[in-house]
Amino acid sequence: MTSHVLVLNTGSSSLKYRLLDPGSGETAAAGLAERIGDRSGVGVLTHTDAAGERHRSELDLPSHEAALSAALAAFDEHGPALTTSSVRAVGHRVVHGGDRFSAPALVDDALIAAVEELVPLAPLHNPANLAGLRVARRLFPEVRHVAVFDTAFHQTIPEHAYTYAVPIAWREEHGIRRYGFHGTSHRFVSERAAQLLGRPVGEVNTIVLHLGNGASATAVAGGASVETSMGVTPLEGLVMGTRSGDVDPSLHAHLHRQLGWSLEEIDGHLNRDSGLKGLTGQGDFRELEARMAAGDPAAQLAFAVCCHRLRKYVGAYYAVLGRVDAIAFTGGVGENSAVLRAAALAGLERLGIAVDAAANDAPSREARRISPADGEVAVLVVPTDEEWQIAREAQALLDG
Ligand code: ADP
Repeated sequence: MTSHVLVLNTGSSSLKYRLLDPGSGETAAAGLAERIGDRSGVGVLTHTDAAGERHRSELDLPSHEAALSAALAAFDEHGPALTTSSVRAVGHRVVHGGDRFSAPALVDDALIAAVEELVPLAPLHNPANLAGLRVARRLFPEVRHVAVFDTAFHQTIPEHAYTYAVPIAWREEHGIRRYGFHGTSHRFVSERAAQLLGRPVGEVNTIVLHLGNGASATAVAGGASVETSMGVTPLEGLVMGTRSGDVDPSLHAHLHRQLGWSLEEIDGHLNRDSGLKGLTGQGDFRELEARMAAGDPAAQLAFAVCCHRLRKYVGAYYAVLGRVDAIAFTGGVGENSAVLRAAALAGLERLGIAVDAAANDAPSREARRISPADGEVAVLVVPTDEEWQIAREAQALLDG
C-alpha cells in the first residue's frame, strides 16, 4: 500500500476519517468516532477495514485527541497498518478559510493561527477543525498535513456577487461578504459533470445543487464558482434539514422586539429548529417523503417550499450564467430523491430544462444523465465524494 491519503473531517462531537488512494478514490479504510466529549462517557467508534468489515466499539472519548488515538488503535487492531511509507499525507477539511485561502495549503503554525483568527466567522466549525489539525499533527509528526477549505472554490466569485449592500466598514473591518460553503463538493461535481458531457470543464457552465442536511446551490462558469447560495455563514439560501435558508434579514429584530428572544436564541432556532424540521417537526428527507406519501399536509407544504426555493435559485443562476449546459444534483437528497428532482425542475421547459421520468426514476449509484437525450440542458445526478476531492487536492499540492 503506497501513497494513500488519510482524510480527516472533524466536527464538534465527531471525527470522520477515510484512508484512500487519491488516484482512484478507492477506500482502504474508513471510520467515524461519535459523541466526542459526551458527558455520559459513552463514545462510539465504527471502523471499516480493508475488507469492508465494520468494527463497532463503545468507549470513553473525552476529547478529539482520544478519538483520533482510538481510530489509530483501530487501524492497528483491524488494519490496514498505518506507516509513514503508506500514508503520504493527511488531508484536513477546514470549513472557513475566509478570503485568505483560495487553494489548499500546507498546515504549519501560521496556517493554524489564520484558521483560529477566522473562528468568529465560523464559531461552530473552525474550533473543531482546529482541534483536528492540532491533534493530527501531534500524532502524525512525520507526515505532511494539507488543509482543504470549504470556502476556497468560491473565491472566484466576482466582487459584485460576493458584496452585500451594507456599510463598507462592515466589509473592510469585519469581513462581511458572501463566502459560500460546500466548495469541495461543488468543485468535484462540476468537474464530473463536464466529464459526463465529454467536454473540457473550462467550456461548461453548470448549476450544482448540493442537497444534503445542509444544502447549497452554486453557479459554475467554466470550472469557476461565480455565485453561491450560502453567505457569511452556512444559513443563507436553500431550505435545509434544520436551517431556514433565506428569511427576511429583519426577522431577528422583529422576533427580538415581539418575543424578547435573544439573538443567540433566534440564531439557534434558525439553524437547528427551522427548515424541514421547523415545517414538519423533523428534518430527515426520507422521513419527509414517507409522510408525503401518507398524505400529511405539513410534509406536502414543506416539500413544496423546498422545491419552490430550488426553482427560484435555478432561474436566478440561469440568468447569472447566461447559458447553462448542465444542472447537477448531488448530496444525500439530490442523489436519491427522484420526486424532488422532478418537482424542483418542473415547468422549466422554456429554459431548455426537462427531466426524463424513466431515467430519473431508475435507481442507480452512478453519475448519470436524467434529461432526454435531445434536452438542451443536461440534467445530471452526480454522487459527490468530498474525501476523494480532498485527497486529490492534497496530492496535487505535494506534487507541486
Ligand atoms: P450531510 O449534509 O450531513 O452530509 P447527506 O448528504 O448524507 O447529509 O444527506 C442527508 C439527507 O439525505 C437526509 O435528509 C436523508 O434523509 C437524505 N437521504 C438519504 N438517502 C435518501 C433516499 N434514499 N431518499 C431520500 N432522501 C435520502
